Amino acid sequence: MRYETIIGLEVHAQLLTDSKIFCGCSTRFGEGPNSNTCPVCLGMPGVLPVLNRKVVELTIKAALAANCQIVRYSQFSRKNYFYPDLPKGYQISQYELPIARGGYIELEMDHGQSKKKIDLNRIHMEEDAGKLLHELDGVPADHSYVDFNRTGVPLIEIVSEPHINTPEEAGEYLRILRSMLQYLEVCDGNMEQGSFRCDANISLRPKGAPVLGTKVEIKNMNSFRNVMRALEYETGRQSSLLESGEKILQETRLWDVNQGITESMRSKEEAHDYRYFPDPDLVPLVIDDAWIDEIRSTLPELPREKKERFVKEYALPEYDAAILTATRQLADYFEECVRLGPQPKVVSNWIMGDILRHVPDTRDISQFPVTPSHLAEMLLMVDKGTISGKIAKIVFEEMVASGRMPQFIVAEKGLVQVSDEGALEKAIQEVLNANADQVEQYRQGKEKVFGFLVGQVMKATKGKANPQVVNELLKKMLAG
Ligand SMILES: [Zn+2]
Repeated sequence: MRYETIIGLEVHAQLLTDSKIFCGCSTRFGEGPNSNTCPVCLGMPGVLPVLNRKVVELTIKAALAANCQIVRYSQFSRKNYFYPDLPKGYQISQYELPIARGGYIELEMDHGQSKKKIDLNRIHMEEDAGKLLHELDGVPADHSYVDFNRTGVPLIEIVSEPHINTPEEAGEYLRILRSMLQYLEVCDGNMEQGSFRCDANISLRPKGAPVLGTKVEIKNMNSFRNVMRALEYETGRQSSLLESGEKILQETRLWDVNQGITESMRSKEEAHDYRYFPDPDLVPLVIDDAWIDEIRSTLPELPREKKERFVKEYALPEYDAAILTATRQLADYFEECVRLGPQPKVVSNWIMGDILRHVPDTRDISQFPVTPSHLAEMLLMVDKGTISGKIAKIVFEEMVASGRMPQFIVAEKGLVQVSDEGALEKAIQEVLNANADQVEQYRQGKEKVFGFLVGQVMKATKGKANPQVVNELLKKMLAG
């Protein structure tokens, strides 16, 4: 390819506060239209905004985790524009003096083979706008409705430098950022409900060119996959325009998920169009070192650190560690189970295979009927030879269905592994009698038949025979 793709991402993350940024209204999602509103968030005359302390705290938390510099003196500004979902006619945001600058997110591409730092430009706080509805109960309406419940809900905007070069890097950046915010309990990361949203700036330039090309902003992408698809599409669109000597227009384009294309929405506005100015209703925000230190001391172990520790402490492959630490809840589940005794790699295999098949969103794993103690007890029974690995699969499914502890299931269903030589000899002899042809073939040197005979013994014992003992006995009996 002759062109280099330059991508910058702007992520809006909704903060996990109970109340809005400048008033006491609830931030709960899915309430009746306009029920979470008051004169402040409706922009009535004569009211004054009061900053929610928790918003600042969560923002500093995110900024520290993203290695940003916390700005000790920051300011709120008014971003002026008209839209029906914006009752005040301006959005309170931060402009010249954001709360955090710099920082970076480190990507691990190719399963950790290559690392790349994506620098951040800034993180700032702002209020969300309301929501326009163009349909009611799924039926297109002949006029639009406005719901102000979301008006004044606190957001942080995380602005990256244009250091991202491929759709895959963009996807990885979003995954890492979201996982970090979820670990911090700063944002729930739910893209469908709009609490984690992403806009992208993308431009192309001839490889090695010193100046950036004209950038296009893409909006309306509601999943990581759609962000990547939209960037892929836009790369193709822009490069074919440039190939044919045409110019790229600076504009905002909307991703159309059904058609898989971007469409022009409007020419891109410049910052000066918004007539930003410091909000006279809010005093500048001064943050002292003591507060920053206090917040820093509450930072949990972050995904990257946890992953590295898992590799070292539990001797796990990078791949396992990355999956197990994708959410804090899953990592806790794993560690709780290992603490009870089973081998870490065995626990990891069960989680990555059988458990993830049953638990699509691992943040909900605490509701899964198989708790770490269920899993640990079962794995220890396999370790001791009480049940076979094969029987463990049956016990597991039974635990999923009933939530009962493995020792009860094993006792009740008579699933204990048979290692008693007398009992097994009898079963083996029956198999040998019933398969005289195969026995003859084996004795003539066709060793493959051995596996078949083991299988027959396992079948006759309904999988309960200890395979190791069966192997030894069978060899002895065939020789004799
Ligand atoms: Zn309110």
